[in-house]
Amino acid sequence: MRIDSITVRLIAAPLKASFATHLQTVTEREAIILEVRDSDGRCGYGEADPFSSPWYSPETIDSCLNILTNDLIPLLSQHTIAQLEELDRAFDPVRGNHMAKSGLIQAVWDLIAKQQKKSIQNLVGGDKKSILAGAVIAATDPEQAIEQIAAYSEAGYKRYKIKISKENDHQLLTAIRQKYPELPLMADANSAYSLADIPHLKTLDDYGLLMIEQPLAWNDLADHACLQKQMQTPICLDESICSAADMKAALRLGSCRVAAIKMARLGGWNETLRAVQLCAAASLPLWCGGMIEFGIAKAHNLALASRAEFVLPGDLFASSRYWEEDIIEPEIQVVNGSIDLPEKIGIGFAVNQKQLDKLTKQKWLFRH
Ligand SMILES: [Mg+2]
Repeated sequence: MRIDSITVRLIAAPLKASFATHLQTVTEREAIILEVRDSDGRCGYGEADPFSSPWYSPETIDSCLNILTNDLIPLLSQHTIAQLEELDRAFDPVRGNHMAKSGLIQAVWDLIAKQQKKSIQNLVGGDKKSILAGAVIAATDPEQAIEQIAAYSEAGYKRYKIKISKENDHQLLTAIRQKYPELPLMADANSAYSLADIPHLKTLDDYGLLMIEQPLAWNDLADHACLQKQMQTPICLDESICSAADMKAALRLGSCRVAAIKMARLGGWNETLRAVQLCAAASLPLWCGGMIEFGIAKAHNLALASRAEFVLPGDLFASSRYWEEDIIEPEIQVVNGSIDLPEKIGIGFAVNQKQLDKLTKQKWLFRH
């Protein structure tokens, strides 16, 4: 594959509703959009989604821009990518920086899918026609949580995830269970607890949760294995899974009974599919995680979630949940709790150029 040019855009948009966790409240979202163009004028799109500051992951918008423009894009220009596996070798000189790699690798996969006149879904072996949508409730009090659940249930979302901490868990979960005793509910702790909280965490078994996500440290596997042995509720690892090697270690240790796969954190398609294959071999149920993305990353995630290993509804919701107007056309819609997969080639959605231009704060062009 011959690359003609790569455009990097820094975009930003306010969220229609703020997103509160015990670590941070997000009200505006920045992202990096990658456009990789070939000499025939075809364009592949990718999206890098670190947050603006390192509260969730070590990478930030600034660090990603730096690595993309100074390291990854120059490395890509030195390689001819005939096989997608060659992307791994091209980026071998850069350790870590998975979110930066993920955005650029997504764009190359989209371009190659378009060159082969295939959808990304087809390229990655996904065969579902539609996938189940999951809602994320990020609320500061029970009233707000109930309000958000009510709004999502109107569209028939199939799974509800509430952000919790040690300070608000019982208050939020009791209120939700009183109003919605049968709701398919899970809780995401974003590392709000430690092993010293085992007696407290065991009391959460009473709420009939589908799973508890990342209760302990963001970079831990051993303590989660210890906790899982003592909790009935399945533990789902999210932040701890940054590579296929992490996934292998979690499976060997018994650190979780479910995993949330986030392509952004794993460094793009190649490494993500390696982790998925390990989970398939171990029959570990998966779901696709979210990063409050714009439509381009969401389109890649839809293709990922269309694989058979993704048996649980993921953090996949309608464009209109957070954006006044998304950067793809048509926007992602949830109908009766499901999202239909697009049938077009590549990511399957057109880019809304007018909206993309409107959200662009800065733009860099690299010619090869
Ligand atoms: Mg999470």
